[in-house]
Amino acid sequence: MARFKSFPFLLLKIDAVIGVFQRNKCNTVGAKDWCFWWIWESQILYGGGWFSFVLCDVKWGIVLFSGFPEKIRVFDTTLRDGEQTPGVSLTPENKLRIAQRLDELGVDVIEAGFAAVSEGELEAVKLIADAGLQAEICSASRGVRGDIDAVARAGAESIHLIIPVSDLHIEEKLRKTRDQVLVIARDMVRYAKDCGLIVELSAEDATRADFEFLKRVFITGVEAGADRVVACDTVGVLTPERSYQFYGDLRKALDVPVVSVHCHNDFGMAVANTVAALSAGANQFHATINGLGERAGNASLEEIVVSLMTLYKLKLNIETEKLYGISQFVSRLTGVYVQPNKAIVGENAFTHESGIHTQGMLANPATYEPIAPELVGGTRRLASGKHSGSAGIKATLTDMGLAPSEEQMEDIFNRVKTVGDKGKIVTDADLLAIAESVLGLAKAKPIQLLEITVVSGNTVTPTASVRLKLSSNGNGKEVSGAAMGVGPVDAAINAVKKAIAEVEPILLEQYNVKAITGGTDAMVEVMVRMRKNGKAATAMGVREDIVMASMDAVIGCMNVLTTDYNKKIK
Ligand SMILES: [Zn+2]
Repeated sequence: MARFKSFPFLLLKIDAVIGVFQRNKCNTVGAKDWCFWWIWESQILYGGGWFSFVLCDVKWGIVLFSGFPEKIRVFDTTLRDGEQTPGVSLTPENKLRIAQRLDELGVDVIEAGFAAVSEGELEAVKLIADAGLQAEICSASRGVRGDIDAVARAGAESIHLIIPVSDLHIEEKLRKTRDQVLVIARDMVRYAKDCGLIVELSAEDATRADFEFLKRVFITGVEAGADRVVACDTVGVLTPERSYQFYGDLRKALDVPVVSVHCHNDFGMAVANTVAALSAGANQFHATINGLGERAGNASLEEIVVSLMTLYKLKLNIETEKLYGISQFVSRLTGVYVQPNKAIVGENAFTHESGIHTQGMLANPATYEPIAPELVGGTRRLASGKHSGSAGIKATLTDMGLAPSEEQMEDIFNRVKTVGDKGKIVTDADLLAIAESVLGLAKAKPIQLLEITVVSGNTVTPTASVRLKLSSNGNGKEVSGAAMGVGPVDAAINAVKKAIAEVEPILLEQYNVKAITGGTDAMVEVMVRMRKNGKAATAMGVREDIVMASMDAVIGCMNVLTTDYNKKIK
């Protein structure tokens, strides 16, 4: 009996010693504190028995035995693999604008393009390479001298040298043999090194290749001078378990500073596969903003980054609060819409409508949000609709400075439900209009459109001028603005933004348009989402004239964001 009693004590002491010893080896954020906490809790909970003791050990084991490397490098390929999304083609200037945002975000490498593809592409890589960014600028290349020359001409610092390694690709695409591929890998790595480039040797279709051959290609390349290797899951066939095994085996087999993972999302597992590879020791990942890429896309950068930092407590040098902004920016420049339910950066990622959820959210946002929206630069929004609860609607109205009585609240609530039941979206502007009508408030909007003129045509730059009346902050002041745009709608919105800029810094986050009926005289529905400081709102405009529908939506939304009945009373 005495021997059995002393056993946990003995274990505790051993664990405590190991805890102190391992403390300095922990590479995750907070892990060091965790180790101490564990030692402390083990001691305290000893009286609580074996169960607590085991629980502590399990938590600690997660930290101690995860194989995540000390430093994880972020290789962004939005401008190369991401740009290969069907229908996407960026101008060199727009590529540079995205590269600057990626640099501010803090990625280690920016793959700026495929220099040999066209003159324009070479120009883009050169423009970005010359921009003096912090990040390393890389260009993709096939295993041919002409491609490598183009990378060197563009002034990129590193080359992503892609060599196919599966028999399928070697025989059907290259029409070569494995031995010839080994020679190409060796010669092209040497050639690229001679050109003064940092070489990242990339094995295309690596996950469907013979593993022994893949290792031979990498070892040959590393012997020839390759600085890094990347194994590509080109058609996205890995599973997390296989990815862990595959990249773990590669890491063990190769003596090279960087082993990178590159996953595609054909089965929706690119992010999970990337994380699994990193947990097995890979120390760099390739990813794109919004998961852009051919077919089902690449692994999404924002999802990997936030998962690693939040779920695995790892440290990355990424300024996460810039993720939402860059996601919107890339979406706008590429024309590829971000699905509303997209993790981390989707419009609905921090939007709550159902009554049960909003009630929980109001008590404590952690009830239905795994991360705070501020972490990624997003905003929380309580939406109104048929699933709404009165608590959520009331909170939104309180935010606008409205305090309806219980009776009025019931009336507002029922009207919102009626609109929602008809299958219609209830925007924040709709909610405000309903509330104002129930409360019998005068409809003097903070911003009123007095006049708009738009000029467009084949020989003129679309231009617009507006005159607005500002009644809340401006005390009836009239402001005007004129601006150009890529089209009449853009010009009109720019003019409104310009007129209002000094008074209200409001950001247009999303603009969606659809024709409700067919024909050239169709009704057009414009939906916008805008943000002012930490507050987001939605509004809709429906008209036959797209410019006027856009004005209704934009000014309607601005009115929601600037309406504050508290201020009006004062
Ligand atoms: Zn790829």
